[in-house]
Amino acid sequence: MFVLAYMVQLQVKHTIELHKTENELVGVNEKLLYSSMYDSLTGLANRQNLYDKLQYITANSNRNKNKFALLFLDLDNFKNINDTLGHHIGDALLKVIATRLKSVLRENDLVARIGGDEFIVILNDIKNEESILEGIEKILGIFKKEIIVKGKILKSSTSIGCALYPDDSKDINELMKYADMAMYSAKDHETNNFKLFTKSLDDDLHNEVNLVKDMHRALDEGEFKLYYQAKVDVNTKKIVGAEALIRWEHKTKGLIFPNTFIPFAEHSTFILDIGKFVLCEGAKFIKRVELLGLDDINISLNISTLQAKDTQLYDHLKHAIETNNIQAKNLSIEITESVMVENSLFASDLLHKVRALGVSIYLDDFGTGYSSLQYLQKFPIDAIKIDKSFVDEIKKDNEKNLILLNTILVMGESLGLKTIAEGVEEQYQLDYLQNKKCDFYQGYLKSKAIPEAAFIELLKKQM
Ligand code: C2E
Ligand code: CA
Ligand code: CA
Repeated sequence: MFVLAYMVQLQVKHTIELHKTENELVGVNEKLLYSSMYDSLTGLANRQNLYDKLQYITANSNRNKNKFALLFLDLDNFKNINDTLGHHIGDALLKVIATRLKSVLRENDLVARIGGDEFIVILNDIKNEESILEGIEKILGIFKKEIIVKGKILKSSTSIGCALYPDDSKDINELMKYADMAMYSAKDHETNNFKLFTKSLDDDLHNEVNLVKDMHRALDEGEFKLYYQAKVDVNTKKIVGAEALIRWEHKTKGLIFPNTFIPFAEHSTFILDIGKFVLCEGAKFIKRVELLGLDDINISLNISTLQAKDTQLYDHLKHAIETNNIQAKNLSIEITESVMVENSLFASDLLHKVRALGVSIYLDDFGTGYSSLQYLQKFPIDAIKIDKSFVDEIKKDNEKNLILLNTILVMGESLGLKTIAEGVEEQYQLDYLQNKKCDFYQGYLKSKAIPEAAFIELLKKQM
C-alpha cells in the first residue's frame, strides 16, 4: 500500500516536474523568439522583424496598390551624449525616444530599432506627399519637447531620410539605401531636419564617389598645392605672414577651389590625409622663408573639425616642427568654434598642448557660429578671425550695420586677443578697421591667395 502510494506520489511528482520543465522550455522558447524579434532595450521590432514585416507590407501594398514611406532616422548628437554622460543615460534616452515614437504613430505604422541610434519608421497608406510630411512633422515634434532622463535635461534631435514604395524603388534593400542617403543629405544641412529621396540625390552620390576617387589620385599625383594669402599689419601695412589656402591644380579641369572639394573630403577620413599634406607642405614652406632670413613671418594652416578631434594632431604638429627644424612661433592653426562645441573637454586639452609647443591658435570665421564668450575665455585662443560678411558691411558713408563688427573688435581687445579681419577689398574698409583698432587684415586689397613663388616675391619686395 505504502509502496503504491509512494509510486503514485513519484509518478505525480515526475509528471509535475516534466510539466514544469515543459513549461520552462516553452518559456525559454518564447523568450528566445522574443529576443530574436525585438530589441531588448526598447522593446521595438528589431532589424530581422522589420524585414519579415516588410515582406508582408510590400505584398499588401502591391495587392491594394497602396504606397508606404520608409523613414530612416538617425539621432544627431547621440554619440556625444553617450561619451559625455555615460551609456546608462544614452540607453535611458533611447527608451524615451522609442516610447514617444510609438505614441505619435498610427496603429498600422511600424517602428523598429536597427542599430545604436538608428530607427526605421514605416508610414503605411500614403496618399500623397502631404501625408508623408504630416508623419515626419509629428516625429520631429517629439524631439522639440524637453527630455528629462534621470534628472538631467537632454536636448536631442534627429535627421530623417525618406524613400517611397513603390515610386522610388520596389526593392527593399534599395529603398533602405535611398532613405539612408536622404538622411545623410538632411544631416548635412541642419539638425532636426528631413529630406525626401530624389533621383538627383542618387546622381550626386555617384558624383561624390567619383570626386573622392579623383581626390585620392590627385593627392598621389601631387595636384594639390598650397597658395598663400598675405596677412597684413593694419597700422604698418607690412606683411606679417600668410594663410595657407589649398588649391587643386587638376590636370584636365584646371584650378579648383576648396569649397568644391573640402566638404566632400570631410565626409570621410580623407580629410585627415589632406590635413597631413597641408601640415607637411606648410612646415616646409616655413623653413624656406626662415632660410631667406625672414625670422618673423607667421604661416597659418586651416585645420578641419575632424582633424582637430584627432588625437594625433598634436604629434603631427610636433613632428612637422621637429623634422623641418622650424620655429613654432612661425606656425599657427585656424580652427572653428564647432571644434570646441562638439567635444569641449578633449579640445581644450589638445589646444593647451598645442599652444605649449609654441604654436598660435586662431579662431576662424568668428561671428558666424556660436560666438560664445565662454569659449573665448576657456580655450587658449590667440586671435580671432573676423568673417568677411562683417567686413562687407563696411560701406562708404554707412555705419549702420556695424554694431556687431565693433562689438567683436572691442571684445577682442578687452580679452587680449588679436583681431584679423578677412576679405578686405576696399581702402575705406581698411581705414575703418584701422580706426577701430583692428590688428591685422587679409584681402584682395593687398593680395589674393597666390602660389608659393609669387608670395615669396611679395615678401622680398618689403625686405
Ligand atoms: P577661410 O579659411 O575662411 O578662407 C578665406 C577664404 O576667403 C579663402 O577662400 C580666400 O581666398 C577668400 N578670400 C580672401 N580674401 C578675400 C577677399 O578680399 N574677397 C573675397 N571675395 N574672398 C576672399 P578659399 O581659398 O576658396 O577657401 C575657402 C575655404 O576653404 C576656407 O575658408 C577654408 O575653410 C577652406 N580651406 C582652404 N584651405 C584649406 C585647407 O588647407 N584645409 C582645410 N581643412 N580647409 C581649407
Ligand atoms: Ca581660414
Ligand atoms: Ca575664415
